[in-house]
Amino acid sequence: MKFSEVIGQENAKSRIIRMIDNDEIPHALLIHGEPGIPKLALARAMAQYIHCENRQNGDSCGHCPSCMQHRSLNHADTYYSFPIVKKSGKSEENANSDDYSGEWKEFISENPIVENYEKWLAVLKNENAQPVIYKGESVNIIHKMSLSTLSTKYKVLIMWLPEKMNATCANRLLKLIEEPSNDSIFILVSDNCNAILPTIYSRTQRIELKRLPVDVIAEYLKEKYNLDGQEALAVAATADGNIIQAENNLAYNSESKDFFKEFVSLMRLAYSRDLKSLREWSERIFAYKREKIRRFLKYAARMVRENYIYNIKAPELNYLTQEEEAFSVKFAPFINEGNVIKMLEELTKAEIDIAGNANGKIVLFDLAIKITIFIKR
Ligand SMILES: [Zn+2]
Repeated sequence: MKFSEVIGQENAKSRIIRMIDNDEIPHALLIHGEPGIPKLALARAMAQYIHCENRQNGDSCGHCPSCMQHRSLNHADTYYSFPIVKKSGKSEENANSDDYSGEWKEFISENPIVENYEKWLAVLKNENAQPVIYKGESVNIIHKMSLSTLSTKYKVLIMWLPEKMNATCANRLLKLIEEPSNDSIFILVSDNCNAILPTIYSRTQRIELKRLPVDVIAEYLKEKYNLDGQEALAVAATADGNIIQAENNLAYNSESKDFFKEFVSLMRLAYSRDLKSLREWSERIFAYKREKIRRFLKYAARMVRENYIYNIKAPELNYLTQEEEAFSVKFAPFINEGNVIKMLEELTKAEIDIAGNANGKIVLFDLAIKITIFIKR
């Protein structure tokens, strides 16, 4: 992984590159940020840069023997540590990441850009178990970090999700982190740094990664999924700066098309005061499962918001797909200062009611009737 392959995070990248170039690498660095913000890739790029034999313009070369080993996750002086579920026959004393080295390599090669804990749980094939970094891992790490480096100046340990270390493991590693040997570097990569043992946390230097900007996520989606620019922006806009969320949104794309159809239908029927069809509409939506109804109501709220923005002519703030925009050309004037707040309130209220087990059919039909009042002819 080269820095240039890591999405966004330019500030963090330059900070890390500076540390390495000046040979001021902290012995324990914590890279943290919310889930869905790529962090592991940055840790990998950092390790690869540390070891690269031919650094160029603030990045690793990508093809020296060391970079090649990094690419295949086989670098001799780089260890990976991550939460696992004990395999049968293993005890807490000897369960460690090596038990899953094959699965790990596959997981990383399939998800090089962003680490996704849910997907890792699926790899571990034990959805009810809580993966842990066991005592056995600390034994393994202490052993590996005591070996002399094979070909490079630094041994690097990349630990994914240090918050999953159990207390025994964390306490045993504490000494190593407190009094590291000169040639070892710990890079901890955390989704939730508040859950890390405070004694470990306080001994790290920290870099917090921020949510990604919409255009950066859109660019990624465009490349990876071959979307057109407008569609990529529309998906990215609802992702909260989170790549995993963006990809989930994309999976819901066909659902969104259905939601769009039903939103249009609701607005048209409300405009023509067609109560009979509105009742049918509410029954059709009610046939969705509860979570899907909630997603629909969120989608409808977004459409109301977007159409208001469209109406006040702030296109730079607009995130609509082509199909949605074609509808908004005529529809947007109906969403204005007089009704936008009320409509958003009613959609939110309906969503809360549905979540709280209210009678969904009544909630949806009520909502439809209120919308006939808000949409003035
Ligand atoms: Zn290289």
